[in-house]
Amino acid sequence: MSKLPNVGTTIFSVMSKLAAENKAINLSQGFPNFPIDPALSSILEAQANESVHQYMPMPGSPELLSQVASLIDRQYGRSISESKELLITAGATQGIFTTILALIDKGDEVIILDPSYDCYEPAVLLAGGIPVRIPLSEVFLPDWDRIKDEVSDSTRMIITNNPHNPSGRVWSIEDMTELEALMMKNSNLLLMSDEVYEFITFDQKHLSAHLFPSFFDRCITISSFGKTFHITGWKMGYLSAPESLMKEIKKVHQFNVFSVNSVAQATLTRYLENFDVNTLGAFYEEKRDTFRNAISSSKFELLPCEGTYFQTASYAAISDMSDVDFCTELTIKYGVATIPISVFNSDARDQKIIRFCFAKDEATLLQAATKLCKI
Ligand code: PMP
Ligand code: GLN
Repeated sequence: MSKLPNVGTTIFSVMSKLAAENKAINLSQGFPNFPIDPALSSILEAQANESVHQYMPMPGSPELLSQVASLIDRQYGRSISESKELLITAGATQGIFTTILALIDKGDEVIILDPSYDCYEPAVLLAGGIPVRIPLSEVFLPDWDRIKDEVSDSTRMIITNNPHNPSGRVWSIEDMTELEALMMKNSNLLLMSDEVYEFITFDQKHLSAHLFPSFFDRCITISSFGKTFHITGWKMGYLSAPESLMKEIKKVHQFNVFSVNSVAQATLTRYLENFDVNTLGAFYEEKRDTFRNAISSSKFELLPCEGTYFQTASYAAISDMSDVDFCTELTIKYGVATIPISVFNSDARDQKIIRFCFAKDEATLLQAATKLCKI
């Protein structure tokens, strides 16, 4: 008997495999295809000769925790306890899984906003919780009336993801104010704020949960070094939580991974000393604009992209196929792999929208655009 009968292989593995089999340009799974910063590789090389090859302390290296605490202070003006409120994780995925397993009990309802990143629901189910999937609006922003209607005494957690994967939308101050009101009204509600793209926003600065003191005693924030430093394969991230919740999260973490890769922790500690995360927005904005301009003459209708490294587009003017079939055909026949959005909806709602990852070098983006403009 399966504990997750309705879970198949994640769309990211499916589409990357299809891209490789068909030698298609892979704009599906989100990962950069350009080299990492040479400064980061030289620190890594140097660290290989240091004595950093044994277990780090369970919550993370104290030096790295301290760098993360200063980053949060610099970026958001929040003073956080590095020993009590931070945890280094094996990527955001492990942070999310461990948090849910530690804090969600049998029968607890967890609100998930669709289209939603695919690792939330399985974790809730394994914890014995009940996922309550609520669609975002047609333009991928929260429908607060609907969310308010769904919150009851049985609701233990709301999971938010801002900047949002897959849509690339970013929440406004009004959305954050609504979230604050919801949290105030429901004193038992926990907030898990997935902010892995926190430093990749364009026109508007990201409004992190770290900026709202009223959240602090009930909020877990999730971050990913993978996104911030173009090192998705390192699987490194961190989370913050108030001490009372962190105690429970650490109980699970110590038997889930115990501690995270020591060489990566030592390397990131040195790298964080000099890296300015504020350069990331402009770096990816250029890529977004290159891609958008290059496919502007195509039949795809480009939707707003305010953050993340994902551009969504409607293909309604090209085909009335389902988005899954369309993405398959696009990969096999036209040589560009993308992600269908419907797989992130609990009801498989299909809006004829697909997601392109533009975390690629210019040549790749232009080559893909040439193919897309021929459709
Ligand atoms: N949350 C979201 C919204 C993501 O897009 C991703 C990965 N792309 C993750 C969590 C997981 O991040 P990590 O690779 O650090 O596990
Ligand atoms: N988060 C990445 C994306 O959205 C993929 C991560 C993964 O493959 N697990 O494409």
